[in-house]
Amino acid sequence: MATIKDALYVLRTLKKNKYEAYFVGGCVRDYLMRKDSNDIDITTNANPYDVMKLFKAKPTGLQYGTVSIPKEGYSIEITTYRKDGVYLDNRHPEEVIPVVTVEEDVQRRDFTINGLVMNDVLQISDFVGGKDDIKNKIIRAIGNPDERFKEDALRILRAVYFQSKLGFQIEKDTRQSMADNRLLLNNIAKERILNETLKVLREPHQLKALKTLDTTLISEVLPGLSKGIKYIVDTQKDPLFIDSFFSLCFSLNGSVPSEWKFSNIARNKYEKVVELVNQKRELTNLDLYTYGLEISILSNKVSFLLGYSAFQKSSLEKRFETLPVKSAMDLKLRASDLLNLIPKKQGAWVQKYLDEMVLLVLEEKLDNTYDALKAYVLKKEASHEK
Ligand code: ATP
Ligand code: MG
Repeated sequence: MATIKDALYVLRTLKKNKYEAYFVGGCVRDYLMRKDSNDIDITTNANPYDVMKLFKAKPTGLQYGTVSIPKEGYSIEITTYRKDGVYLDNRHPEEVIPVVTVEEDVQRRDFTINGLVMNDVLQISDFVGGKDDIKNKIIRAIGNPDERFKEDALRILRAVYFQSKLGFQIEKDTRQSMADNRLLLNNIAKERILNETLKVLREPHQLKALKTLDTTLISEVLPGLSKGIKYIVDTQKDPLFIDSFFSLCFSLNGSVPSEWKFSNIARNKYEKVVELVNQKRELTNLDLYTYGLEISILSNKVSFLLGYSAFQKSSLEKRFETLPVKSAMDLKLRASDLLNLIPKKQGAWVQKYLDEMVLLVLEEKLDNTYDALKAYVLKKEASHEK
């Protein structure tokens, strides 16, 4: 977390060197709302090379005129006044063009609440009506919303993110334009869509944001989520955890769409939950053993949210704790023991035999002791020989 005070020295140093510099964007909005910021943005008429001469700054986005000073847990990003050239891919300007005044610079920014600037004595200049919009809790595009969302369609999801973060209303024309331009989100890199969707889900006004996604039909551009979002909006009073959200949506959808760039761990988790939830039955000890505690609890949570099952988190935890075997390693008779007991060559039969015994142990039809397992094997072999 960052505060304006920690970055005042940057404005002062730039000013001492005869440059203009202002705080801009989220940190000014957050300052007015008396909140901490994720990071600090500064806009200046100094060019990036001059900024790098004055500070230990890294060239993190030179093509956009941005350098960053890394701090503990946040960074100070310094960007030269600019406007953006034409956008051909609904995301990136073909070029950025330096401009002379800060007033021109703020015109390229996305929403009025993000277009305020503040100087080194904490005076705010508002060229876009951002102060009133913060006061009235309104998210409004700067300039013509259609043009702004066509330039960069990710702004559509950014508006939803700011709603989720701040709880503000989205102004009528801005909202209509988000709905009208929603299909442009198909042109945006899938990693960016995931990233922005995660940002929406992590914030406190998640349900309000999901409602916007539903009513504007933006949800239909998010693969596999639309049914789930509608269901959540209709039934939930509290925000969902991210894993519960995706698991519920994909369970209603029937599968995890390949478009989402999840980590392998996350994708595997959601696929397993979808598989379990859609069997619409109570979880057995074999499920707990096969899927593990995390996936079992998550699928129970989703089954509960969907009205298929009671909420059983603590009883699942207890059952898992007392499982006679939690992994194949826990079986008291090993593959090597089996090969000693049965004079057959190693093969697939060994694993099958062990799995069968695990199942019997889990069903409490067989004790997990070497003697009991050995007796079971010998009895079974004897019956084969008959
Ligand atoms: P957060 O609280 O999430 O950090 P923020 O407003 O600081 O919110 P950032 O993504 O950090 O948002 O961007 C900083 C500023 O840069 C924004 O406030 C806005 O002025 C501008 N900005 C960022 N992304 C865009 C965009 N896609 N289009 C236009 N302006 C943008
Ligand atoms: Mg920020």
